[in-house]
Amino acid sequence: MIYFGHMKFRAVIKSLTGFAASILLIGNALSLDSQKSHADMQPMTVAYTTMQPVIQTEPALPKPRPDPALAYDIQTVKIALPHAKPSLHDILPLSTLTLAETIKAQTGYDTTGESIYKLRAGEGVGTILKRAGYSAADTAAAIEVATSKASLRRLQIGMVFTIAEHGFRFSVKPGMDIYVVRHPDSGWIAINAIRPIETYIAFIQGSIDDSIYRAALDAGVNEAAFNEYVRVLGFSVDFQREVRRGDKFEMMYTIDRDALSGDVVDIDLKYAGLALSGDQLGFFHYDSADSAIGWYDENGNSAARTLIRTPITGARLSSSFGTRRHPVNGFNAMHKGVDFAAPKGTPIIAAGSGVVREAGWKGSFGRYIRIKHNATYDTAYAHMSRIAPHITAGSRVKQGEIIGYVGSTGRSTGAHLHYEILVNNRQVNPMTIRLPTGKQIDPVYLDDFKKQVQMVEAEVLARGTQRFAAAEPALTTP
Ligand SMILES: [Zn+2]
Repeated sequence: MIYFGHMKFRAVIKSLTGFAASILLIGNALSLDSQKSHADMQPMTVAYTTMQPVIQTEPALPKPRPDPALAYDIQTVKIALPHAKPSLHDILPLSTLTLAETIKAQTGYDTTGESIYKLRAGEGVGTILKRAGYSAADTAAAIEVATSKASLRRLQIGMVFTIAEHGFRFSVKPGMDIYVVRHPDSGWIAINAIRPIETYIAFIQGSIDDSIYRAALDAGVNEAAFNEYVRVLGFSVDFQREVRRGDKFEMMYTIDRDALSGDVVDIDLKYAGLALSGDQLGFFHYDSADSAIGWYDENGNSAARTLIRTPITGARLSSSFGTRRHPVNGFNAMHKGVDFAAPKGTPIIAAGSGVVREAGWKGSFGRYIRIKHNATYDTAYAHMSRIAPHITAGSRVKQGEIIGYVGSTGRSTGAHLHYEILVNNRQVNPMTIRLPTGKQIDPVYLDDFKKQVQMVEAEVLARGTQRFAAAEPALTTP
C-alpha cells in the first residue's frame, strides 16, 4: 500500500523581497527584545524599499547556501548581532528572466530581440560575440570588463550566451549570472546578478509494500534525498533484512529551485524517519555549527554507530548467525558470525575505529583480522585474500578504512567475508545486536538543535499529520 495523502509541497519564494521581509522580522524581534533587556540598544529600523540593481565592481564571491530556516513558515527568530559584512543578496541585483529587463534597468536602453548562442569547439567569447554581430571594438571592450568577473580562458563547449545589441549574459557558476552591458555614460560594464532561488519543503510519508526503494520512488521522493536517507538510517537498520511489509518511512527535505529556469539546484534532507514493527527511528540533520554538523535523534544522540553492521558493499548475506550444517565438514555447528558472499578482491572496511589486535593467518579462518574498538566491542574478519599492507597487530584503524579484501582462504567453499562482532569476547549476531551510538551532540548546541527539531515538528503538524517515528504522541494544545 502506498499513499500520497500527506504529500504536500509548499513554496517559499526566497527572492530579495522575501529576504528583506525576514530581516524586518528579525529587526522587530530585536527591538522588542531591546525594550526588555537592552535598554541602551536602539531599535533596529530596516528601511528596505524596493531594491534597486546595484552595479558592483568587486570580484564575485561564492553564493552562500540559502538558509533552510528561511523556508519554514513558522520562524524561530534568532537574535543575532547585525552582520558587519552585508550579504551578497543585499549587494547584488537579481538576475532576470530576459536579458532585456536587466539591460533596461542598468542602461535605460530598450532592447529588441535577444538570441541564444552556444559555444562551439575552439570558440572563445570573442568569436561568439563576432558571430552575434558585435564590432571588434565592442568585443574587445566587453571582454575586458567581463574578465573582471570571471576567467574566460576555459569555458565549456555548449555554454550558453544570451546576446542582444546592448549586452549579453552568461553564467560560469550555478546561482550567478554575469551581465555585460553597454552603459550610455560608463561604456561597457560587467555585473554579477544572483539567480533567484525558490525553496520548497517536501514531507513524504509512505508505507512499504515490498521494497522501500520502490515505495519511496512511487511516493515521489527525490532520488538524492532517498540516497541520503538510506545512508543516515543505514547505521541503524539493515534495509535488506530488517524492513518488512507494512513498515512506514517518512522524510523531510528542502528543494532549491532556480526560479528562472525551474532547475533543481539543491536537495537537502532534514529529517529521516522509519517505523519498523516494534522500533521507531527518527533522525534530524543539524547544520548550524561546523563542529556539530551531523544527524541526531531528537535527544541529540548521533545516528552514526560505533560499528557498521555490514563492513562490505555490494555483498549478499550467504549464511546467517546460528546453528547450521557446516558446508565443508557437514557437521551441525554454531555459526558464530555472518557470511557475506562477494567477489574475490572486494574491499572490506573496518566496522569501527580501533586498534588491530591480530592480523595474519589463523588456521581455518585463513587470513584474519581482529580489531578491538573499546573495552567491550571487537570485530573479526576472516577468509581474506589479502590484508591491506598497513594493517598489522597494534596499528590504529578508522571506521570505514579498507583493511583487506574478500577471498576464500582457510576452510572456505567460495569467496566470502566471515564477519563477527564480539561483545566481551563472545560472538553476537551482527544483524540483530543493538549497536551503541557513536556520540552525542555537543551540549553547547543542544538547545539550538532542539529548535531545529521543533521546526520539523511544526512543519509536519502544519500538514495535519504526525511523525510515525515520534517518540511520544505529539500534544495538541488548544
Ligand atoms: Zn562464516
